[in-house]
Amino acid sequence: MAAYEYETHHYDVVVVGAGGAGLRATLGMAEQGLRTACVTKVFPTRSHTVAAQGGIAASLGNMGPDHWQWHMYDTVKGSDWLGDVDAMEYLAREAPAAVYELEHYGVPFSRTEEGKIYQRPFGGHTTEFGEGPPVQRTCAAADRTGHAILHTLYGQSLKQKAEFFIEYFAIDLIMGEDGACQGVLAWRLDDGTLHLFSAKMTVLATGGYGRAYFNCTSAHTCTGDGNGMIARAGLPLQDMEFVQFHPTGIYGAGCLITEGVRGEGGYLTNSEGERFMERYAPTYKDLASRDVVSRCMILEIREGRGVGPNKDHIHLNLMHLPPEVIEERLPGIAESARIFAGVDVTKEPIPVLPTVHYNMGGIPTNYWGEVLNPTKEDPDRVAPGLMAVGEAACASVHGANRLGSNSLIDLVVFGRAAAIRAREVVKPGEPNPEPNKASIDKALARFDRFRNANGSVPTAELRLEMQRTMQEDAAVFRTEETLAEGVRKMEAIAAKRADLKVTDRSLIWNSDLMETLELDNLMANALATIVSAEARKESRGAHSREDYPERDDKNWRKHTLAWVEEDGTVRLDYRPVHTEPLTPPEKGGIDPAKIAPKARVY
Ligand SMILES: Cc1cc2nc3c(=O)[nH]c(=O)nc-3n(C[C@H](O)[C@H](O)[C@H](O)COP(=O)(O)OP(=O)(O)OC[C@H]3O[C@@H](n4cnc5c(N)ncnc54)[C@H](O)[C@@H]3O)c2cc1C
Repeated sequence: MAAYEYETHHYDVVVVGAGGAGLRATLGMAEQGLRTACVTKVFPTRSHTVAAQGGIAASLGNMGPDHWQWHMYDTVKGSDWLGDVDAMEYLAREAPAAVYELEHYGVPFSRTEEGKIYQRPFGGHTTEFGEGPPVQRTCAAADRTGHAILHTLYGQSLKQKAEFFIEYFAIDLIMGEDGACQGVLAWRLDDGTLHLFSAKMTVLATGGYGRAYFNCTSAHTCTGDGNGMIARAGLPLQDMEFVQFHPTGIYGAGCLITEGVRGEGGYLTNSEGERFMERYAPTYKDLASRDVVSRCMILEIREGRGVGPNKDHIHLNLMHLPPEVIEERLPGIAESARIFAGVDVTKEPIPVLPTVHYNMGGIPTNYWGEVLNPTKEDPDRVAPGLMAVGEAACASVHGANRLGSNSLIDLVVFGRAAAIRAREVVKPGEPNPEPNKASIDKALARFDRFRNANGSVPTAELRLEMQRTMQEDAAVFRTEETLAEGVRKMEAIAAKRADLKVTDRSLIWNSDLMETLELDNLMANALATIVSAEARKESRGAHSREDYPERDDKNWRKHTLAWVEEDGTVRLDYRPVHTEPLTPPEKGGIDPAKIAPKARVY
């Protein structure tokens, strides 16, 4: 192996990722006097959060009655009773304060006539514990909410003097012999130098892994790098079988058309022009939760009622909406539909298809963002020195299915919680432990192996093979047959990593090498997903088994843990779901009877 030199930087905290979660954590850490570095492979405002359209959920009650307990109930039900109840309470309770905080930081929310933050209806968000009509809970800045939030948080982080390392690619965590995380090794993309960020607390905010699939709404940078680093550190990933398909990706292109369109009154039709959601979800119709709507669309297509020459997609109609609603509230999607589908939304329906959108699973954490390294005796054991927030993490507030607009709120609520917790466990300014040489060498050896990979399979080819396999075999509907075949295929694909070919050997702007490191990370995510899915013999949320159509709370109301070895072997175990709310009813908490599992109908 070539001898690699690296520069060492010392911080109290290093945050990896500058999306909504990473920036909120960075800002909070810096605000509390911790010396904080934020390392990011893309410029902060190019993180995938910038693409979030529809909005951010919080029970402000600006457009009619709402209550955090209703939001909590909807989240529990949306999760199909797999989410951790303590974390879901924390999310719903803290959400209004987190949104007002964003407003004060400067997020330009759309406004009501009286000047309050505008809120729109979103799927699965209701009143009266699911008994009342849909609620307007999703706070929006037109259909560019993520853009507004991300730019605001970046400005605020700079104001707090957080230090940014932009276009630095984090390769691996550095783990001490005692199992504590000591920081992260990163590669500076523009000059090829290597950097060791030594820190008392490392926060992974690296986002999702949508790119494990062929058709997804996520950016090309969503490659689950943090999850890959966790797997290589010998820690488990949680609930990876739960992958959200968004009902309305543009047919062919995969770009997202926000659920806000249906929130503003848009609806889906089949080849007969029928509003078929009325048949499947009589109460909430097009605003049932995402897993439900996606399945109904696929069923319509299977039964021959798809639209288009191949009858293989569905129509999303908004021609009936007043043009000023489209102009004011949905300008971005009108543009996307024009560019990517050639459609004028005031005249024609948009062709859409369920598209991979979000990863409910990820790095297990408690509701302070601390990463868990569970054992049988202590399923909530904390891995010292390590936190995870945002889509990379699994707190778990989304369980088996995330409600729309609950991710943006997850980013800011738990980014903030991580900062509060870090202030309690990190002693600012104290010297950092000497980084573990063995761990650094291991990370460098892997880097060097890929840099000099001289086999016969180009990275792009292997990536495509993985993406097609995941798309086909870990889809909206799953069976033992497809999953078992998918596992076999993914194992064979993972083995081909030994035969990868990287043509560029330089260290400066080497996108070939970067994409190879990303592919290796994606592979850990894909393996965990498909193996966990094959093992789970029930249907819950986004995991829909045709051979096990019922939810089975007795045997399966538990979190999957998946340890992915570097050779591609996956070992599974399980840990209990947290079923106790944080606040007892006599102190204003939710009545536990309200959130006991029951049938999930919309
Ligand atoms: C098109 C689209 C629309 C959406 N709309 C909504 C919505 O309206 N409401 C809602 O609630 N949710 C929405 N979501 C979901 C939500 O936007 C995402 O889940 C969320 O933004 C993820 O944020 P994040 O901070 O976890 O990660 P990202 O925003 O994905 O950021 C990841 C960060 O990690 C960095 N990073 C990753 N790997 C490395 C590495 N190896 N080294 C260094 N840095 C690294 C990247 O540079 C980036 O800064 C949408 C998602 C999509 C794709």
